[in-house]
Amino acid sequence: MIPTEENTDRELVRELVRVAHPLWRTILATMREGVLVVDRRMTVLVQNPAATEIFPPPPISSRPLRLIDLTRDPALHEGFQQALGQGASVELRFELRRGEPRTFQVRIAPLRIASDTPQAALGVFVEITALERLERVRRDFFANLSHELRTPLAAILAYVEMLQEIGLDDPEHVRRCLDGLFRQAQRLHALVRDITDLAEIESGATVLSLEALPLRALVEDVLALIQPRAEGRGIAIVNEIPEEIQVLADPLRLTQILQNLLDNAVKFNRPNGCVWIRARRLGEHLEVSIADTGIGIPPADQPRIFERFYRSEKSRSRETGGSGLGLAIVKHLVQLHGGEIRVRSEPGMGSEFTFSLKAAPEPRVAQGATSADAMTNE
Ligand code: ADP
Repeated sequence: MIPTEENTDRELVRELVRVAHPLWRTILATMREGVLVVDRRMTVLVQNPAATEIFPPPPISSRPLRLIDLTRDPALHEGFQQALGQGASVELRFELRRGEPRTFQVRIAPLRIASDTPQAALGVFVEITALERLERVRRDFFANLSHELRTPLAAILAYVEMLQEIGLDDPEHVRRCLDGLFRQAQRLHALVRDITDLAEIESGATVLSLEALPLRALVEDVLALIQPRAEGRGIAIVNEIPEEIQVLADPLRLTQILQNLLDNAVKFNRPNGCVWIRARRLGEHLEVSIADTGIGIPPADQPRIFERFYRSEKSRSRETGGSGLGLAIVKHLVQLHGGEIRVRSEPGMGSEFTFSLKAAPEPRVAQGATSADAMTNE
């Protein structure tokens, strides 16, 4: 037989089929990485299921299938051509823009079957979308963290310098500096506490200790801490939770959720505003909501406020002093309880945070006894 290019290719395919032992076929079918083998004329010789998922063959295509039928990405075509022409491996990054963008690391190696010149090239596609996203999240986290640390640290240094320069002779001045130092140290303390909390919750190490709890009474305990701050700004807090509502939750963690949400409802409220706390039973679940008459959250920020360190521009300029981690912690804690949290807000009008929790079976209340009595009698 005269060794024409066509004959060589046919031989090549035959050889590939021969070596495509069931073991190899199983490996190709099982692997997550996409595998594409093309010959010198860019005809696709092998496409494993993962590669078919990345590059679904068009309904109408040339026969045999060619690389151009699967992708028109110039860098990919060049990569395969380079591996075939120069006989060296090529590495490149490939972005798939069909639907949600996906990123792949591609390695293309020359395939020598019956001669020294490569007759085919094999490309392996490893998806790195999630890896790159995690890397981005990690980078953002450290950038935000250093930013959050820098502000109170700079203020502490400034107060210390003032004390060094002006001396300790003026008691009023010393007191103002010490107050400032205390406020900034508290801010750092809260930041470190929130980071530690978040790290623990995210690591999955947090174990909930679920109990049937009287929700109204628990809210009252949290309000005892928050009320003085609210009264200072003339903000009224109304606890509308029915006495009989029992929730199945970890008391410490639920307190943390309520504290964060109520603290925000006061912090981002207007002077003489109002906060309402409500709960209703929906079958096996409870829906708890905290509504305020505050500054509200711009629509563009609403999906992002549960992200770590995210603050809406308006509130940042108010220098509210929070860590920006509160809602991230709340979201994790609610999810840990098997619930969900959402926000509804209108700038200038107010916000409403609603979260779900499991309801505890209602205790049978003896006539004349309160639900709290019933709890302690159980
Ligand atoms: P922090 O309160 O420490 O800034 P959070 O994670 O608790 O951090 O909240 C993130 C951001 O969400 C806040 O900075 C603010 O922009 C916005 N936000 C949260 N709660 C409210 C609210 N009740 N009203 C208006 N904005 C809010």
